Amino acid sequence: MDHNNSETKDTLVQLLSPQRLRGKVAVITGGARGIGAATARVFAENGAHVVIADILNEVGTSLAESIGGRYVRCDVSKEEEVESAVKVAVEWKGRLDIMFNNAGIAGFGGSITNIKMDQMMTLLAINLHGVVHGIKHAARIMIAGKVYVVCAGKRGGTIICSSSSAAIMGGLASHSYTMSKEAILGLARSTACELGVHGIRVNCISPHGVPSEMLVSEFQKFLGNTELRPNEVSSIVGERGSLLRGRGGRLEDVAQAVLFLASDESGFVTGHNLVIDGGYTSAFSQMS
Ligand code: NAD
Repeated sequence: MDHNNSETKDTLVQLLSPQRLRGKVAVITGGARGIGAATARVFAENGAHVVIADILNEVGTSLAESIGGRYVRCDVSKEEEVESAVKVAVEWKGRLDIMFNNAGIAGFGGSITNIKMDQMMTLLAINLHGVVHGIKHAARIMIAGKVYVVCAGKRGGTIICSSSSAAIMGGLASHSYTMSKEAILGLARSTACELGVHGIRVNCISPHGVPSEMLVSEFQKFLGNTELRPNEVSSIVGERGSLLRGRGGRLEDVAQAVLFLASDESGFVTGHNLVIDGGYTSAFSQMS
């Protein structure tokens, strides 16, 4: 296909594809790679203006450039940096519609009998406090922007937080990780109750077994095999961790679920936890 034809095809695809987030402004924490990066691409394809907030400056900047978005360095454990990231969106486009509190780390495993409180606090500062910071500063902007949004025929905003199948099953990951992800579910439910009056929806996603760099590195450590590749992790998870045999989870599976919670199509969904696990958690509970 020559260059002109390919441009025409791109334009046609753009015109024909439904832009489910057309004109909306989103902040994605941990958006430089993995689930966050896949979601940033899907959001941009659907017409959103995306701010990627992460600590990986090089990949974050390059991804932001490729999707016409913005990158801001932001360590979510630091409240002032999350506040600044949200401000970048508002200064850029005058509003914030979608906050995806996705940044997280794994690790700090081992027995409860040896748990190191300083390590646990480091994880909680990112995985849990980071989400508190994200909800707090997104909600402030979304509440303040209510009048503008009401005039435009819509109000509020949507906040999505990354929990995990670990919050449902326990025992899949480190105690600190599981604790942080369970706490996020409670936080999302309670903030959904408070913020509903402002038209702000708060939901969680709970992925399982999606071969991001985080998961691959956890599997490498667990199996003592540093050569393990994402497709191998995917097939291990597909074989052992899903009702859908031969099919492991993909980053795009999660991104599409987040797209649903970010779009107006989920306008009556709040305080919910959307599990994206190929049936893993159901299978486990049926067996128990
Ligand atoms: P990942 O490691 O590929 O991506 C995590 C991103 O968060 C990275 O870009 C990283 O730089 C960023 N990050 C880490 N610490 C940060 C900080 N202090 N401030 C800002 N950004 C920070 O992993 P992923 O699997 O894509 O994870 C995304 C989220 O999904 C996490 O919250 C994770 O717990 C959750 N999750 C993932 C899976 C899975 O199967 N991959 C399952 C359940 C939950």
